[in-house]
Order: sequence, then structure tokens, then C-alpha cells
Amino acid sequence: MAGTAEQLSGAGWRVGQGFDAHRFAVGSTGPLRLALLEWPGEPALEGHSDGDVVAHALVDALASAAALGDIGELFGVDRPEHQGQSSARFLAETIAKVRRAGFAVENAAVQLIGNHPRLAGRRWEAAHGIGQILGAPVSLSATTTDRMGFTGRGEGLAALAVCLLRPAAPATPATPAVTSNVSA
Ligand SMILES: [Zn+2]
Repeated sequence: MAGTAEQLSGAGWRVGQGFDAHRFAVGSTGPLRLALLEWPGEPALEGHSDGDVVAHALVDALASAAALGDIGELFGVDRPEHQGQSSARFLAETIAKVRRAGFAVENAAVQLIGNHPRLAGRRWEAAHGIGQILGAPVSLSATTTDRMGFTGRGEGLAALAVCLLRPAAPATPATPAVTSNVSA
């Protein structure tokens, strides 16, 4: 019998993995949406949502670790209401589901596979933005495939993601904020 998120809750640490690939839109002048950033001058990726392979691979890794299914099952990416939807929203909603299932993210790592853009110059900016949503450290790396395959020919981008979840108290909705009135 397939395990449910409830059955896994509190059962221990969990790893998850994810993969995604999208092709570059023919004739696109961009901007590319990747790792929750806009990359002016880079061709956009085709996709029902914004085609962000880094974010989508990460959603799949998180869903995998918490036994929530996958991005297609969670968000029905073939449904019209998700057309053009931002991957930041997919990621935030996935994290909310992960927390409701009784887990917190310990860390995550994503590897981009492709010829361009060059991730190195914006690695920390991208990792910081994603880490803010996950509430955990995220490391980003990139590789090429020695001109082999669809990424090597520059037809598109792919990404691999892994994450580690730790057991945590399930998030309760509408928790009152604890405020401190120490004079500012
Ligand atoms: Zn995707």
C-alpha cells in the first residue's frame, strides 16, 4: 500500500529527488524565468507555467520527500488555472503542504544542466530567494553535458534537485504572531 503523508508524519528524516526539463521557445527573446529570477536577453523556456526547471525540480523533490506525489498531481499543471502561474507560488504552496504533513526542510540542492545562462554570477541571489521560501539553506550548482544531448545542443534546460526533510510539529493555521514591544 502506498504511504500517505499522514503515515509518514513524524516517522523520521526523509530525502526526496526531483527532475525537470523544458525546451527553449523558438524565436524567444526572453526573458527567461529561472531559479525564481528573470534573466533578460536569455530565451524563455516553453511550459504551461513559467517553465522554471530549477523551481519545478525542487517542487518535485519536496513532494517526493513528504510523499505528496509530484508537481502534476499537486498543481495539475495541465489545468487552465495554472497557465502562466509563477513558480514562486508553486514552491510556497508546496512548502505549506510539507509543513502541514509535519516536516521542515533541512536543506536542498539543485543542479542546473545546460549551456546558458551562466548561473555563477547570480548563484547567491537565486539561492537566497529560494531559501527564503523554503526556510532552509539551498545550494545551486550548474553543469554542461559536453555538447551532448538536448541541453548540449542548446535546445533547452534541465535540473536535478534533492532535499532533506526533518520531522517538525505540523504548522497550525492562524497562529497568533508573538510581538515584542521593546522600544525601537
Ligand atoms: Zn516544469
